[in-house]
Order: sequence, then structure tokens, then C-alpha cells
Amino acid sequence: MIIVFKNDAPASEIQSIEQDMLDRGLTPEKIVGQDKIVMGLVGETAELDPDQIRDLSPWIEVVLRVGKPYKRVSREFRHGESSRVGVQTPKGLVYFGERDPIVVVAGPCSVENEEMIVETAQRVAAAGASFLRGGAYKPRTSPYAFQGHGESALELLAAAREASGLGIITEVMDTADLEKVADVADVVQIGARNMQNFPLLKAAGAQAKPVLLKRGLSATIEEWLMAAEYILAAGNSNVILCERGIRTFDRQHLRNTLDLAAVAVLRNLTHLPIMVDPSHGTGWAEYVPALAKAAIAVGTDSLMIEVHPNPAKALSDGPQSLTPDQFSALTRELAIIGNAVGRWPQTIATAA
Ligand code: PEP
Ligand code: MN
Repeated sequence: MIIVFKNDAPASEIQSIEQDMLDRGLTPEKIVGQDKIVMGLVGETAELDPDQIRDLSPWIEVVLRVGKPYKRVSREFRHGESSRVGVQTPKGLVYFGERDPIVVVAGPCSVENEEMIVETAQRVAAAGASFLRGGAYKPRTSPYAFQGHGESALELLAAAREASGLGIITEVMDTADLEKVADVADVVQIGARNMQNFPLLKAAGAQAKPVLLKRGLSATIEEWLMAAEYILAAGNSNVILCERGIRTFDRQHLRNTLDLAAVAVLRNLTHLPIMVDPSHGTGWAEYVPALAKAAIAVGTDSLMIEVHPNPAKALSDGPQSLTPDQFSALTRELAIIGNAVGRWPQTIATAA
């Protein structure tokens, strides 16, 4: 249930309603939007009569039920307003949001060595990316495949951050590593295979860094939103949702099927910012440019693109990685679509 206050409702009035809700055993969450103040109520609200709640104060405009099983992530919970996630990077604050410029995240699948990660960071920064991606801990199908360099790769990411000014997005697979990863990462990634790792979701929700939650390999949109709900319920509302392709029947030509319809559906269902990853979403570098452009057209707020200095020699995901030159060429094309939808060039606000 949400309580929408009238414009200019006095703070003391809002506070007394908040106390009233606490006394009823509910968890009120005040959301200060651009035009309105909304109070989301989490808990046993089934017995509450919206009309009676509305009559508690002349400053209440309307009381509405949230009909979805996910509450905090639902668009209704913010009375239709989208949220934005601000991330502090060495060059300034970057916002992910529906009304913000498209944010580009690029980098290799795995951090392989210092030279390659620093070189890639500098090349993608020059082409217009504002975040470097790269895995230190890799979720691999085979236990014999390269598993990532772990903690030492985190140090290399820190060096690449320093050298390039880019923010860092890297994956955490285990709650035991969360603190270490969050020390280096500006955004902590939870990968597709861990989308329903509930202890990890709860732990990510209980720390301060923004979280990038990738869609599970075969997850429905509702399962994905419920997973995001875990993070918000644990106290962290800075969550970005990343569509990275789902398992469908054509595995011969595509590693995954990028579900661009999900972007439009998410926009309807949730206030959270959206990212699209056409690299994992198709599995093949040759299809990445077309899908990246389509993702902007369908309304994504950000893109994640795998870039490797020498894809043929990559320790993971070479076939879907662009070279730095291909990535630069792509960003020039993305600028055309981005401009057409009024979400380019990327601007970095100075620190608030
Ligand atoms: C990744 O981004 O490196 C990754 C493993 O992606 P996903 O979890 O989407 O497979
Ligand atoms: Mn990868």
C-alpha cells in the first residue's frame, strides 16, 4: 500500500503518519520524488481500509494498494516515478536512470593481467565508456575452465580505475568475498547464475555499494523482480537490472536470446534503472552492434559490452568480445541513436 501526500504537506504531518504506521506494526518508507512525497507501507496491509487511512490527514491525497508480489521495486511503490542510481566514479557522479544519458560499461569478460586490463580501460574510456567491467571471480560452466584470478585481479581493477578514471563493475559470487569486492567495485555485480542466491542478495542489500543484478538464465521477469526485492528489502535501493539474454530453443546460432521486450515490460513494472548486455545476450561479437543499437531504441538506460584487446586469445568469452577498435566504431554509431532519443552525449556531473 502507498500513501501519496499532497504537495507541500508539512513534515510534521508526514512524521505523525509515519509514527501511526509504525504503531500498527508496518514498515513505512518515505520516498521523496520530484513532485510528490510517497510513503510506501510494507507489512500486513491486507486488513487496512485505504479510505480510513486517507481520512487520517487532510494532507493525504490518495491511498493505493500495490497489487504486485514485489513491492519496493514496483513502479506503483513510487507512484509511477522512476528512480535513478548515482554512482561516484573518479571522474564524478554518473547517474543511471530513465531521464539520464545512456551509460556505457565496457571491458573484458575476465581480468587476465595488468597490461590488458589497463590498456582496455584506457581504450574504452577514450571511446566514451564511463565504467570498466571485468571479472575477478568467474562463474564457469566447467570446473576446468579459467575461474578468474580472484583477489589479485581486484587489485588490477583498482589500478585500471586509477589509470583510466573509469568506475569499476565486477562480479561477486560468494558472500565471503563481498567486502573485498565492494572495496574495489563502484557497482557490485550479481551474475545470472546467482540471481536467486538468496543469501548473496541479502548480503548485497545490507552493504552500501550499488548492485547490478543480472537476469537469471531462465528467469521470468517476475522472478527477477522478486530477486531485486530481496536487495531493497535488506536496505539497499540502488539496484540496476541487467537483461543479458535468456535460454531459448535456438542454441545453434545464439548463445542466448536477448529479450529486448523485457526492457519495455520492466519500464512498466519497475522504477529501477535498466541495463542491456548484448554480448552475453547473443554470444557473438558480430551481433553485438545491432542489438546494442536496438537496446537504446527500446529504452535501455545503459549498456554493458565485452571488449578485449585480442579476442582470439581471451581466457573467457572471446567469441562475443569486440576489439577496442570495433568498440570505438560502435560508440560512434550508438551516438546517432542516442542523440535521436535525446540521451547522448554522456555527461558526468561534478560530485554532489
Ligand atoms: C559476466 O558479466 O561476466 C557474466 C558472467 O555474465 P552473466 O552472469 O550474465 O552470464
Ligand atoms: Mn563474459
